[in-house]
Amino acid sequence: MTDAPQSERSEIRRLPDRGSYDRTTIHAILDEALICHVGFLDDGGKPVVIPTIHARVGEVLYLHGSPASRMLRTLRGEREVSVTATLVDGMVLAKSQFHHSLNYRSVVLFGSAREVTDADEKMTAFRAIVEHLVPGRSAGSRPPNEKELRGTAVTAIDIEEASAKQRTGPPVDDEADLDLPYWTGVIPVRIEPGELEPVDSTPVPDHVRNWESGK
Ligand SMILES: Cc1cc2nc3c(=O)[nH]c(=O)nc-3n(C[C@H](O)[C@H](O)[C@H](O)COP(=O)(O)OP(=O)(O)OC[C@H]3O[C@@H](n4cnc5c(N)ncnc54)[C@H](O)[C@@H]3O)c2cc1C
Repeated sequence: MTDAPQSERSEIRRLPDRGSYDRTTIHAILDEALICHVGFLDDGGKPVVIPTIHARVGEVLYLHGSPASRMLRTLRGEREVSVTATLVDGMVLAKSQFHHSLNYRSVVLFGSAREVTDADEKMTAFRAIVEHLVPGRSAGSRPPNEKELRGTAVTAIDIEEASAKQRTGPPVDDEADLDLPYWTGVIPVRIEPGELEPVDSTPVPDHVRNWESGK
């Protein structure tokens, strides 16, 4: 796959060796991250960043929610947005406090937001968001009816530029600190499902079991 388009605003300058514009890498991070943070200027021109669920379909990121949402109302009008999604992979504990860090994979993207009014595109967004949470869930639950579709605002962000950045590996301590008697290494971190909490006696479907077992 080709690299995502970039310009000066999406060029990684700080530690560029950790950066990438590879679309496959960018897509994988966006798809694995359960949430993203959407940054935009409100109607008063003040910056705000809002966490929300997203789903990617090709080069479009979909958001949905109540039509009363300030974020979705503001983004109706072809606004420029910046979105970030982050996965934390490990706590990096160095000998020195200075070199403590996190292992991570992150994406920063820029795009323009538009309101989705077409019923088919709205359905695509709904399905993608449910599938983003738990693959297989769109076939394992009731689709939205007309009233629910009308009562939900959907925003599409056409991805114009994007970058990924990641840190992997052990801490990097200064030579002079290597013999200090402090534990050093990485505590791996991941999202793991807990025990299921069923609401009724419906048998547990495969897509729930698969998510639970990490497949
Ligand atoms: C979980 C996590 C923890 C972090 N902790 C710290 C910290 O404590 N201190 C710190 O200074 N930095 C931290 N970073 C790195 C931080 O995200 C920035 O990359 C860094 O601060 C440099 O910012 P900058 O604006 O100077 O980068 P620049 O390189 O000037 O940014 C230019 C462009 O590069 C792209 N870019 C920048 N950062 C990222 C990114 N993380 N992912 C994808 N694209 C990016 C954007 O398009 C941005 O506009 C952390 C990152 C993550 C994901």
